[in-house]
Amino acid sequence: MKEIDADILIIGGGTAGCLAAVEVKEIDPALKVVILEKGHIDRSGCLAAGMNAINAYINPGETPESFVKYVRNDARGLIREDLVKSMGEELNTVVKRVEDWGLPILKDEEGNYQARGRWNIKINGESLKTILADAARKAGAKIYNRVAVTNLLVGDGVVSGAVGFGVRDGDFYVVKAKATIVATGGASGIYKPNNDGSAHHKIWYSPFNTGAGFAMGIRAGAEMTSFEMRFVALRTKDAIAPTGTLALGFGAKQVNALGEEFMVEKYADLGGNSAPTCYRTYGPTVENKEGRGPCYMDTTHLSSEEVYNLKKSYLNMYPHIVLYWAGNGIDPSKERVEIAGTEPYITGGHCQAGYWINANREATLEGLYAAGDVAGGAPYKFVSGCWAEGVIAARSAAEYVKNREDVEVAVSLLEAEEKRIYAPLKRHSEKKGGVSPREMEEKLQSLMDEYAGGIKTFYETDEKRLKIALKHIHKLKDQTGFLVAKELHELNLAHEVIDRIDVSLVLIRHLLYRKETRWPGFTTNRDYPERDDVNWQKFVNSRLNRDSGEIEMVERPYEQLVS
Ligand SMILES: Cc1cc2nc3c(=O)[nH]c(=O)nc-3n(C[C@H](O)[C@H](O)[C@H](O)COP(=O)(O)OP(=O)(O)OC[C@H]3O[C@@H](n4cnc5c(N)ncnc54)[C@H](O)[C@@H]3O)c2cc1C
Repeated sequence: MKEIDADILIIGGGTAGCLAAVEVKEIDPALKVVILEKGHIDRSGCLAAGMNAINAYINPGETPESFVKYVRNDARGLIREDLVKSMGEELNTVVKRVEDWGLPILKDEEGNYQARGRWNIKINGESLKTILADAARKAGAKIYNRVAVTNLLVGDGVVSGAVGFGVRDGDFYVVKAKATIVATGGASGIYKPNNDGSAHHKIWYSPFNTGAGFAMGIRAGAEMTSFEMRFVALRTKDAIAPTGTLALGFGAKQVNALGEEFMVEKYADLGGNSAPTCYRTYGPTVENKEGRGPCYMDTTHLSSEEVYNLKKSYLNMYPHIVLYWAGNGIDPSKERVEIAGTEPYITGGHCQAGYWINANREATLEGLYAAGDVAGGAPYKFVSGCWAEGVIAARSAAEYVKNREDVEVAVSLLEAEEKRIYAPLKRHSEKKGGVSPREMEEKLQSLMDEYAGGIKTFYETDEKRLKIALKHIHKLKDQTGFLVAKELHELNLAHEVIDRIDVSLVLIRHLLYRKETRWPGFTTNRDYPERDDVNWQKFVNSRLNRDSGEIEMVERPYEQLVS
């Protein structure tokens, strides 16, 4: 067992986690900051392959208040305005900070940042993640790479750190901490992806963000919000590259197989090309469903110089598509780029699923904070919003630890978690036989696809199907007791699927609870296809009752702050 003491533990050394670490050390260099990171901090999480834009920035002429109004409209009238506003107030400061660490931000001739749309600025961000990791290291955070955190240490509603295992060394890690910041990103791999077989990890969201942060919070009894606001990304087919680069950066419009600019022609009352994000997926989904697909981004207006710049832009963030075009002899100035919706993801970054937090980013359990894609209520976060939340959570945690005595953790708690972690390895060594993590993952994904609104049903849900999903996934949860892992890699996969099952069960409850369609394209509720502000402009939250083992649903009001 590796026992580590910390003042502040950060779970996940990604976008938000790195900024949180630097902020704590700047507030008080004497505070002991520990980061537990499942991958390697230099290239982990959503930023692993780099970025070509910062998507949340207050450009000249805009304010945090106008940002709140924009995000509210984009999320169709339901956001936590306190969270979005406080995030908006930090955006430009955190961006400047990261620029000072070495991030190249593109500038015009007068030295102003180059805007890409209303809230975005252009960067050369291939090395963004290594820049953040260096900053966390230099600030003095102690980083443990390749440690998968499995659970929080909770006693009497107070969190005192977390436990996990080394995915390479196999050790049992116990970190006792006065404050814990969860920054593990969102959840991918819940639904069957577009690509399968050996390409099943070719998905949009980071395949290694498997919802662990949500799952450990759910098991600890923390309140969660808005899981039903799933994110479905509109991406280029097969290579799953972002279409925003084509639309915002290069003026490409969506067209259907008949060549119609359907977003403008058919969805104009929803804002045409500048419709709320969910409609950008909804439009092509309906076109496909009604037989006018496939759909494309029309790039045939681009000059060869523009194609060169487009490829340069993708190389900063999504190099695969450039290789894909090269390998298949595709010239985007001569042929349109086919697009498709991804499988749904659960995230508090593009959408607002995650921990229910207060303005200090404090979760509903004492000593626990959440930042970035794992935190709920504040969509449109993107890279810079995650930085902002990391900084705010760090400030609150640094304040909290001033008054907390040393932490003690019950030995029985540690023994139980150690047993739970290694059970799939033990089962293998006892030659008991059972289910492999991959088999269970495939089962979960196909159930979610078919019965809980995946690609197969055009992201549509209904009560009958959701109830079938709930029944079968409860059975699957029981079967996790038969998971077998041959080695540490499989042990990691086993815990990933256990976490995904816990997230799926909460997600289905949220999908069943909201009786309206607020975000068509992300989720269309066949039983209640309209938006219903009178009854549903409110948050759907949930928490596990740790005594009964039941997920209890709670409603929280929407509060307007900015008129
Ligand atoms: C493909 C893609 C492109 C994007 N493009 C842009 C863009 O151009 N501009 C923009 O502004 N935003 C973009 N975004 C959004 C942005 O990248 C994310 O919102 C942001 O990076 C999320 O930050 P995070 O800290 O919450 O999660 P991450 O940065 O993903 O960090 C989570 C960390 O937690 C670790 N972790 C996970 N589970 C565990 C565990 N059990 N134990 C320990 N560690 C764990 C992960 O390894 C990872 O390092 C993009 C996102 C994606 C997926």
